[in-house]
Amino acid sequence: NYRCRSAFKLLEIDDKFNILRPGHSVIDCGAAPGAWSQVAVQRVNSTGEHMENPRGTVVGIDLLRITPLDGAHFLSNQDITDPATEAQLLSLLPDARADVILSDMAPNASGLRELDHERLINLCLSVVGLAEKVLRPGGSLLCKYWDGALAHKLQTNLSQLFQDVRTIKPKASRKESAELFYLARTFRKR
Ligand code: SAM
Repeated sequence: NYRCRSAFKLLEIDDKFNILRPGHSVIDCGAAPGAWSQVAVQRVNSTGEHMENPRGTVVGIDLLRITPLDGAHFLSNQDITDPATEAQLLSLLPDARADVILSDMAPNASGLRELDHERLINLCLSVVGLAEKVLRPGGSLLCKYWDGALAHKLQTNLSQLFQDVRTIKPKASRKESAELFYLARTFRKR
């Protein structure tokens, strides 16, 4: 049982692209209520349930409180854009490195499409900044964005850091919604 229907978007994307593997370390940005983290815990084996497989790590962070989940470390009531957050994230990751960064973050909607778009792109750009510091070479980043004029800027940034960047509209995402995802794979330093 998932905490939120959003789980199905990540399941669909991961079934196709297989970004979450046993033993991986994952950062889940905007993790509340915790459905994506539930998927990540299963797929990276962070509870160690499958003893024949390596055991991964899941660290989730959100402005809101996140209800505890077996196999995940949560940083509740914390802002991903706050520089102080980074040190805490690093301390929870083995070797202070992540294999995968997920972001399903969304700012509180103002109702102004352009403004919401811009705010979410800025959140995504801070996730890219985090990736530059903590992602292992070869790692991947999946982030939600709302389409609009600044999406190309985010895409350009990702393309400078990853070998393969693609846009995904999961079937599990409502048709009317402007939400899309960038999946950036095979991280390499600038
Ligand atoms: N993926 C989650 C799940 O499956 O349960 C749902 C995430 S929800 C759509 C978006 C979340 O992003 C909200 O809980 C919100 O508080 C969080 N968020 C927005 N801005 C944030 C920020 N600056 N730092 C951390 N979390 C943020």
